[in-house]
Amino acid sequence: MKTKGAILWGIGEEWSVEEIELGDPREGEVQVQLAASGLCHSDEHLVHGATPVAFYPVIGGHEGSGVVTKVGPGVTGLQEGDHVVTAFIPACGQCPPCSKGMQNLCDLGANLLAGTAISDGSYRVQAKGKDVIPMCLLGTFSPYITVHQASVVKIEPDIPLEIAALVGCGVTTGWGSATKVADVRPGENVVVMGAGGVGMNAVQGAAAAGAKRVMVIEPVARKREWAMDLGATHVFENAEEATEKVNELTWGRMADKTIITVGDIQGEDVQTALSLTGKGGRAVVTGMGNAANTDVKLSLFELTLLQKDLQGAIFGGLAPRAAIPELLGLYQEGQLKLDELATTKYSLEDINQGYQDMRDGKNIRGMVVYTDADR
Ligand SMILES: [Zn+2]
Ligand SMILES: [Zn+2]
Repeated sequence: MKTKGAILWGIGEEWSVEEIELGDPREGEVQVQLAASGLCHSDEHLVHGATPVAFYPVIGGHEGSGVVTKVGPGVTGLQEGDHVVTAFIPACGQCPPCSKGMQNLCDLGANLLAGTAISDGSYRVQAKGKDVIPMCLLGTFSPYITVHQASVVKIEPDIPLEIAALVGCGVTTGWGSATKVADVRPGENVVVMGAGGVGMNAVQGAAAAGAKRVMVIEPVARKREWAMDLGATHVFENAEEATEKVNELTWGRMADKTIITVGDIQGEDVQTALSLTGKGGRAVVTGMGNAANTDVKLSLFELTLLQKDLQGAIFGGLAPRAAIPELLGLYQEGQLKLDELATTKYSLEDINQGYQDMRDGKNIRGMVVYTDADR
């Protein structure tokens, strides 16, 4: 079918909204009519070449929600009309990591940046006659996607479909970074570095886990205010101010857990996080940086003698099939804020404005909302 999508033709270019050809679902695949797509910082990494993909063009977007409109052969547990959220890491449930309960590390993720379809290694999207890599095997910057069943999670039909997109990446990544990977316990002191679409949910997760203090480092004033609305107890403009105040507030013990959720992580951020973390504490690396960057600053002396823990995290360490419905359940019961996160809604045509607003720190999460005019 012919539809449209936001395509990136090369590093340093803008998103180009144009006609695409989308294939029908093949073995194990479904077609989904999307309601919305979040504008995540990870797609921005494609623009700057920080995330290496096999080739361009790429169709962006990996945080979507919608309704199943077509079902291919061999699909189980999904039918036309089902409401789904996309999972940016497919979860097969059968590979060694999945069977050990680490679905966020599913082996099907191996081709995430090659963009080859799970079912047959080909491509479902073409633009100007060329194969297109769908970001994270999804490509949600289009009102329609054709994806493998491992990449979608069925949700309850009474959940507002638009807002559900947010748990496909940013919310779950942030929440799980606090509740699962950092394993925040009641009474702990927690620092969150960077209050964007991921960091705000590390704040929500840490608060829900019973942290005594949720202390946020964020240079943008408006985001510091938002962080206070979402559960932060203290906000600081920069690491210098945070180091002084965290030291004072904790009587020199520093944070039990520090979570790095900046949108473009640098090597120095690791040392900053470890310095903010006290003896026996844990620093979690959630933010993404340039794939080519291998320089990290850290004090090996402190790491050993103060027995600090440095831990990476993808999808907040959570299993998409369990976490997505669980978080939407918390939203329905008023225990997780989602509506407040979608600070601006854009049409697909305005996607470049959406990313400019992200760079300018104007949003927690910008969202593309699809209407009949897009289809
Ligand atoms: Zn993302
Ligand atoms: Zn798997």
